[in-house]
Amino acid sequence: MKLRKVTAASAAVLALALTATACGSDDKDSDSADTGSGGSKKITIGIKFDQPGIGQKTPQGYEGFDVDVATYVAKQLGYSANQIQWKEAKSADRETMLQRGDVDFIAASYSINDERAAKVDFAGPYLLAHQDVLIRADDDSIKTPKDLNDKKLCSVTGSTSAQNVKDKLAPKAQLQEYPTYSACLTGVQSGQLDALTTDDSILAGYAAQANFKGKFKLGGFKMTNENYGIGVKKGSDLKAKIDTALEKMVADGAWEKAVTANFGPANYKNEPAPKIGNIVK
Ligand code: GLU
Repeated sequence: MKLRKVTAASAAVLALALTATACGSDDKDSDSADTGSGGSKKITIGIKFDQPGIGQKTPQGYEGFDVDVATYVAKQLGYSANQIQWKEAKSADRETMLQRGDVDFIAASYSINDERAAKVDFAGPYLLAHQDVLIRADDDSIKTPKDLNDKKLCSVTGSTSAQNVKDKLAPKAQLQEYPTYSACLTGVQSGQLDALTTDDSILAGYAAQANFKGKFKLGGFKMTNENYGIGVKKGSDLKAKIDTALEKMVADGAWEKAVTANFGPANYKNEPAPKIGNIVK
């Protein structure tokens, strides 16, 4: 299902197809909704590829909390796991990917905020995280967020993390913006950078990676509230369907299972499941 530019006639057909999909969404056997006249259908979902515990491409496939949430949602929309096409959605590209119709939805550590909500719609939220810092384990010079002000700090272009540093958290820090968090991590490891800042949910996953054991620590600062939503194209009727799917995921225990499976290994202490539509400022 690609929501590309459509004519009025094909929009009507598309609307019907979506309705049909929704009707089938409660079936235990979701395959019944997959065998439409158009042959094998696909859904395209944007995730992160380099965030262990959240969204990661591995030799075995795709893993992480966002991957599990997206897979559950896709199933509710009538798509089985093998009908999902995963696409990398880097922080700076997410709104454009949705606006262009490159993906049907995005679950990629994607914080809901007003600026983004002017361009795309959000279902959720489905996780509440907080901005934190990751530093080398032997670094005792960063004890409070204020200590970041004369440091070489790294974050990602187009992220709320970079924006928050500039706006309020540490305006005097020497902020470097990279395309991905994994690129920042290499710099912190080598000593070229002092700290990496983004959501604690992401940083916990990096610090717990087998090859980094004992090398990094988190500040534990909880500097902001990051309400993760699922992004869809503005005006898409997928928003309401995804909200329903997320509610079901929490109610039937699949949300908690995904939390344990993905955040357990990193020992990340997550917040309880958010209520749909309840954004913590
Ligand atoms: N959640 C924040 C954001 O959406 C930071 C993580 C990310 O860049 O994906 O900007």
